[in-house]
Amino acid sequence: MIRLQGKGVSKGLAKGPVCFYTRAEAAAISTAAADFAATCPAAEKRRLADAAAEAMRQLHALAETARKEAGEEAAQLFEAHALLLADADFTDCMNAAIESERCTAEHAVQLARDQFAALLAATDDPYMQARAEDVRDVARRILNNLAGVSECAITLNEPVILAADALSPSETLLLDKSKLLGLLTQGGSGSDHTAILARTMGIPAVCGLGDALGPALDGLTAVMDGGAGTVTVDPDAAALAAFEAARERQRVLQTQMEAVRGQPDVTADGRQMNIYCNIGAPEDLLAVQANDGQGIGLFRSEFLYMAADGCPTEEEQFRAYRAVAAAMDGKRVVIRTLDIGADKQLSHFPLQKEENPALGMRAIRVCLERPEVFRTQLRALYRASAYGNVAILLPMIASVWEVRACKRICESVMAELDAEGIPYLRDTALGIMVETPAAVLIAADLAREVDFFSVGTNDLTQYLLACDRQSGHLGRFCDPHHPAVLRAVKLAADAAHEAGIPICICGDLAADVSLTETFLAIGIDSLSVPPAMVLPLRAAIRNTTAKNCTLKKLQY
Ligand code: PEP
Ligand code: MG
Repeated sequence: MIRLQGKGVSKGLAKGPVCFYTRAEAAAISTAAADFAATCPAAEKRRLADAAAEAMRQLHALAETARKEAGEEAAQLFEAHALLLADADFTDCMNAAIESERCTAEHAVQLARDQFAALLAATDDPYMQARAEDVRDVARRILNNLAGVSECAITLNEPVILAADALSPSETLLLDKSKLLGLLTQGGSGSDHTAILARTMGIPAVCGLGDALGPALDGLTAVMDGGAGTVTVDPDAAALAAFEAARERQRVLQTQMEAVRGQPDVTADGRQMNIYCNIGAPEDLLAVQANDGQGIGLFRSEFLYMAADGCPTEEEQFRAYRAVAAAMDGKRVVIRTLDIGADKQLSHFPLQKEENPALGMRAIRVCLERPEVFRTQLRALYRASAYGNVAILLPMIASVWEVRACKRICESVMAELDAEGIPYLRDTALGIMVETPAAVLIAADLAREVDFFSVGTNDLTQYLLACDRQSGHLGRFCDPHHPAVLRAVKLAADAAHEAGIPICICGDLAADVSLTETFLAIGIDSLSVPPAMVLPLRAAIRNTTAKNCTLKKLQY
C-alpha cells in the first residue's frame, strides 16, 4: 500500500485503476545548423503563419466546447491562449528570429517560447508566473501544427483514475468524462487550468503529488479524496473500509441535498436567507438551473469583456443581460458593472502599468474615468431591465461622491432611453459592493444612497488584512475568517438594516458552510455562491435554528 499526499483541488471521492498517461514524444524538431542555412525566411514565415492560424482556429473551437461543457470560466482559459497567440510582441519575436537567425519556424517558436516564459516566470507575481505555462501551451500547439501532428484526445478504454506529470487544458477538456473517475498530477496548483477545469466538470482531482506518482503505479487500484488531497494506491482492507465509509457519508449528504431541491432557503425556525448564484456569462445558467439556484446574486460582467475582441457593443451586452434576465423568469438578477484592473486585465483595454494595481485604476474608477464605456454598459443594463428582475451593482465603491456620480450617469442614460422611446424599468435597483474598508466605515452614509449592499469578501479580506489576494504564499497571514473581516461584515449589515436595505455576501466566503451560522447571526439576507454550492448551503440552512446562532466567531 502506498499513501500519497498532494493538494486536493477538486472535491470528490473516487476508486479505480490508475492509468498513468505518458505523452508521446513531441514532434521531432530539427534545429541542426545545416537546416538553418537551408531555410528560406519567407517560406518559414509562411509556415509559421499557417500553423498559428490553425492554432487560433483550434483554440476558438476549444473555447466553444468548453463553454458548452464546463462553463464560461473554462472557456476563458482557451480565449486567454488565443489572446496570447494574437499578441503582436509574441508573433514579432518569432518572425524576427526567422529573419535574423535564418532559422526554421520551429526554432523560432522555441526561442520566443523560452524568452516569454522566462520573462513571466521571473516576475514576483504568482498570477503572471502561472501565465508562463500558457506560453508553453500555445507554443506546443504551434509546434504540433508545424509538424502536422493533430491533437489527439487521450483514449481511455475503461473507467480509470488518470495520472500524468501534467495535463494541458485541452487534454483535460477532451477527456471522455464517462470513463474518468479522477485526476492525479505530479505538478500543478489549485489555480492552474487543469484544476479549474476539473472543478467545473465535477471530477475529483489531486495535484502536486510529485515523483511518487509515476508509471510504476499504472494498473494498480487506488482510492482518492479530491478534497483532502489524499491518494492510497493498492489500499489494504482497512484503507478500503475507511474509503467506503467516507463514500457512504457522501452518499447520505448527496441524498440530503437532493431532498432540499425545490425547497425554500429558510432555517428550521423560519428565517429566510436566499441563496443566489455567481455567474460570468449566460452559458452558466445551465449550472444555475441544474443546481436549483433561486436567482443571480452576482453576474461578473467583465467576463463578457474578456471574451470579446474589443469592448462588447451595447447590443451584444443587451442580448447577454436580457438572456439571463428572461431565463431567470422574474427571479432576481444582479449584474455588476465592469470590474477590470488588478487581476482582471483586458488586452484590448490597456490600463496604465502600476506598481500596485490592486490599489490603482480599477473597477468603478475605470468606469468613471471612461464614461463612454460605462454609459454603453448602463444603456444595455437598463434596456435589459424591461425583461426581468434586473438590479445593477457597482464595484469597489470607496466614497459617497462615486455613488452620486454613478447615479447622475444612470439618470442621464435613462433620460436618453426616454427620448428614444426605449422601454426600461425606472425603479431598477442600484446597489454597491462593500469591499473596501472605506465603504465599511461610511456604510451608513452609503446605505442612504442605494437600494442594497453586496459584500465582496475577496477584496474586503485583501484590503483589510493587507494581503494580496493573488499571492499564494501568505498562508496563515491571509485569514478570511479573521474577526476583523467578520466584524466588518457585521458593521455593513447593521448599517444596511438601519437604512432599511438588504445585504448579500457574494465573495468566496459566502460558500463557506462553516460560517453560515455566523452570517445568520449577523443578519445577512442572502448569499451568492458558485452554483454547485446552492444545495449544500440550503441543506445547512434548513438544518440550522437561527435563534441559536451566535457571533462568537467575531471574538478572539
Ligand atoms: C469579491 O471581491 O469578493 C468579489 C465578489 O468580487 P471579485 O472576486 O470579482 O473581485
Ligand atoms: Mg471584488
